[in-house]
Amino acid sequence: MVLNRRNFIKYSIISSLVTYTGGGISSAYASDTNISLSSLNVGLESDILLIIDVQNDFCPGGSLGVKDGDKIIKNINIIQESFNNVALTQDWHPKNHSSFVTEYTNKEVFSSIDMPYGKQTLWPAHCIQGTNGADFHKDLNTIKANTIIRKGFRKDIDSYSAFWENDRVTPTGLEGTLKTMGVKRVFVCGLALDFCVAYSAIDSAIAGFDTYVIMNATKPVDLPGSVEATFKAFNEYNINKVEL
Ligand SMILES: [Zn+2]
Repeated sequence: MVLNRRNFIKYSIISSLVTYTGGGISSAYASDTNISLSSLNVGLESDILLIIDVQNDFCPGGSLGVKDGDKIIKNINIIQESFNNVALTQDWHPKNHSSFVTEYTNKEVFSSIDMPYGKQTLWPAHCIQGTNGADFHKDLNTIKANTIIRKGFRKDIDSYSAFWENDRVTPTGLEGTLKTMGVKRVFVCGLALDFCVAYSAIDSAIAGFDTYVIMNATKPVDLPGSVEATFKAFNEYNINKVEL
C-alpha cells in the first residue's frame, strides 16, 4: 500500500468503528514472534526511542488506566539505556477538552461523536494540564529524554499521534524535529498500543522513517477489534514488531 494520508484516513475510519463493550484482552496480542531489539544494533545518532504517554492517568489508578500499563516501565527504562536520542510525549489537555465525555449530556464513555475532523471517541477526563494525572509516572526515567512533545492542548482537537493531531492537518512539530536531527529509525513504545502508539507509529512510517514498535514495552486499551485493527495497519504500513 502506498504510504499517504488518504490511506491513513481509511485506517482511522476502521478504528472509529470500534466500540467499547468491556471485552477482555485480545488473544492476538502477544501471540506473534517479534524481532529482537538487540539484533538491530540500536543507539546510532539516527535512531530515536519515542516513549508515548507514560502518564499517571494512563496507568492503573488513573482516570483512563490501561491494564498493567505500569508494568512496561521497567522495560522502557532498560531500553532507554541503549539510545542516544529519547523523546517523550505527554497528553496535555485543557480541563474542558472536547474529547472528554463530561463535556456532553447523554453521551456514554467510549462512545463516539462527529467532530469537524471526523469520528472522535469520548474518553473520561484525563491528563489535565498541570494535574498529577498528567505527570509522567514516577518510575519512568525522564532524565535521558532530549525532546518532550505535548499534544492535545487545543480544546477542540484531540491528538493521538505524536506527529499529527486528529484533524490530520495540525502538526505537533515532531516530524520536523526528527528530520532536522537526522533520525532514520523510530522505535515506539508506551501507552496505549492500539491508540496513541499505533497512530504515532503509522505517522512515523508515513513520514518515511523506518518504524518499529517494541511489543513488550507497550500495552493496549483493547476495545473490541482495536488490537486487530492496529496489527493490520502495522502490516499495511510496514511497521516492524520487535521486543527487548
Ligand atoms: Zn487524551
